[in-house]
Amino acid sequence: MKKVFVSILALSLGVLTVFGTGCTKKQTELIMATNAEFPPYEYYDGDKIVGIDAEIAQAIADEMGATLVIEDMQFDSILASVQTGKADMGVAGMTITEDRLQNVDFSIPYATAMQVIIVPEDSDITTPDDLAGKTIGVQLGTTGDIYADDIEDATIERYNKGFEAVSALTQGKVDAVIIDNEPAKVFVSQNEGLKVVSEEFTIEEYAIAIKKGNTDLLNQVNDAISKLQESGKLQEIVDKYIKAE
Ligand code: GLN
Repeated sequence: MKKVFVSILALSLGVLTVFGTGCTKKQTELIMATNAEFPPYEYYDGDKIVGIDAEIAQAIADEMGATLVIEDMQFDSILASVQTGKADMGVAGMTITEDRLQNVDFSIPYATAMQVIIVPEDSDITTPDDLAGKTIGVQLGTTGDIYADDIEDATIERYNKGFEAVSALTQGKVDAVIIDNEPAKVFVSQNEGLKVVSEEFTIEEYAIAIKKGNTDLLNQVNDAISKLQESGKLQEIVDKYIKAE
């Protein structure tokens, strides 16, 4: 009898500890999974990860009274990290897609973006249709990768980092790179002899990925984004990193 009581007590304590830490962790730390190779949204400035997403995440954490912890990983590991609960949220210039919605929930969108094509200045590629039959560089697992997959007779070279695809372009290993518009501008400004094709071919929305069913966090993140939008702070962050042309 006594033994049974002790085990029940131990079990309850165990359960309490598990749930107890779960709650505490949620309140004190907000872990963001990202791929810090995506300027101006997330990139390294020295050994610090900065950018629009880093600042939005910091503002959300402040709103929640939590400490932001940023974990840098490959882009195609971010969703798994959110799904398994290793990270609380994926903030990575991540586009809402039907496929991703099968695996995670998304916050309300906080930015609009497009896929664009980067080519050498003297390229004969001037519209998305010209990509048929070409060799195209993309970042693995991105919407650029998904889009390139549909292009007729194209050969796709997948890289872990966007700038690796752009380096391949400068070395003539690929004919074009499909990537998000803002990083495209940054990469073109950092590399001689490249340009962005003026015709865009998708409109996408960036949002924050959260583990399916974690409505508590989803609501808190959505509330924080709404507040940042209403107060003008979100625009302030964007203006700091994207200069008007
Ligand atoms: N917006 C693109 C996507 O969601 C690329 C994001 C990224 O490379 N960080 O796939």
